[in-house]
Amino acid sequence: MPKNRFYVTTAIDYTNDVIHIGHAYQKVVADVLARYYRQTLGEKNVFFLTGTDEHGSTSEQAAKKVGKEPKEFVDDISAKDKEQLNSLNVSYDRFIRTTDSDHIKIVEDFYRKVQENGDIYKDKYSGLYCVSCESYKTESEIIDGHCAIHPTKELEKVTEENYFFRWSKYQEFLREHIQTHPEFVQPEGRRKEILSFLDQGLKDITISRQKEKVSWGIPVPGDPDQVIYVWFDALINYISGAPEFWPADVQILGKDNLRWHALLWPAMLKSAGYELPKTIYAHGFLSLEGKKISKTLGNVIRPTELVEKFGVDPIRYYLIKFGPQKEDADLSLEKIKETYNSDLANGLGNLVSRVTKLVEDQTLDSLKKYAEETQKGQTLLDDVGSKLENFDFQSGLNLVWANISTLDRWINDEKPWELSPDERLKKLGKVVIAGEGLKGLLEIAEALKPFLPDTAEKIKKQFTGKIKPASPLFPRLG
Ligand SMILES: [Zn+2]
Repeated sequence: MPKNRFYVTTAIDYTNDVIHIGHAYQKVVADVLARYYRQTLGEKNVFFLTGTDEHGSTSEQAAKKVGKEPKEFVDDISAKDKEQLNSLNVSYDRFIRTTDSDHIKIVEDFYRKVQENGDIYKDKYSGLYCVSCESYKTESEIIDGHCAIHPTKELEKVTEENYFFRWSKYQEFLREHIQTHPEFVQPEGRRKEILSFLDQGLKDITISRQKEKVSWGIPVPGDPDQVIYVWFDALINYISGAPEFWPADVQILGKDNLRWHALLWPAMLKSAGYELPKTIYAHGFLSLEGKKISKTLGNVIRPTELVEKFGVDPIRYYLIKFGPQKEDADLSLEKIKETYNSDLANGLGNLVSRVTKLVEDQTLDSLKKYAEETQKGQTLLDDVGSKLENFDFQSGLNLVWANISTLDRWINDEKPWELSPDERLKKLGKVVIAGEGLKGLLEIAEALKPFLPDTAEKIKKQFTGKIKPASPLFPRLG
């Protein structure tokens, strides 16, 4: 279906600590989509939102620990999170913070709409609360008295009078929507998971905390003794971040956040009278050298550290190629190095050096007369795009690399260096631009842009003015 606008969001991260490499996959693949759509739809028709989730007890307790006021603390963390994303070339259009005043206004407005629809009531609640998850835990989510996701943290026994959202009222609406819109929850395995979760039945959910227990939050409109529950507040960022772009085309998040996004969020939207997003895409977890990445285990690596060591595009390449698109994935420093040498230094980098050396002192114009135009309407970027439009980042990237190998093999077979200078140019015009069924190097660079923007730029630059042999794009790592 032809589209003319595209809106992509990622989850927003808690500000109890700076994000690490485990958070990076999601931001990078969202960035790939944003860049691809900017290329095809134009800059102003695309919006990419990311940011930080700053309210609630996780941030409040983390601030207290270091003797800071919550706002001062989250100012610092969100600035550091931004640096992490910038180091990965994540081209967000807005970095929203849930402490932004326009967000707060829209949350209040949203709350009132849900209230006017009769979906909020006050009741007493008692349960076990996991601060790290910012949610109450049901029996099935507790193992040996601890949260299944956070086995080293203590659960808090909480008894409070709170406001509740009539989540159960939307059970059949949600089931119907998910069943009739197979694109709504992706990948397919997650959709099945959500449908079977729905079979257990939804219970109404508290959407406020008493101010004396959790003071760091947005006050409930009309009841200053309560603050809005952090999830209810945070989810609304997807609207407040770019109201003119809502509904989102895809919301990308980790599998641990799937229920909130696939079940609570659409129920809230329906209640408040908003449209639903088209797709909720949940990826798996990334581990590091076979271990869960956690502060407690002391194995946290930040994106900036890896970028310093390997460069930004090699890290993007690795994450897109081996990241947890569907299943969980593991990151290993040795494997990053191997991949760097085989796919980037020997693969792409070597091809660019070879080609530029063979056409030294020519210009793009002088090569053009030997090239054949690519078949209209079927560029490599189109082929890659049809993968990206289905959120298959790995296949999109692999398609680019398949064409790199084809070009490389073609040069090996044709041995243009054995030809006379004029014959050689005839062959290489095709290699650089297109011809004989080949996607040329510049077409490859165009299709590379969403994935490795810096590298794509460097390749194009090689072909402006008089062509000079390229210095290695990816010097081999020893
Ligand atoms: Zn937990």
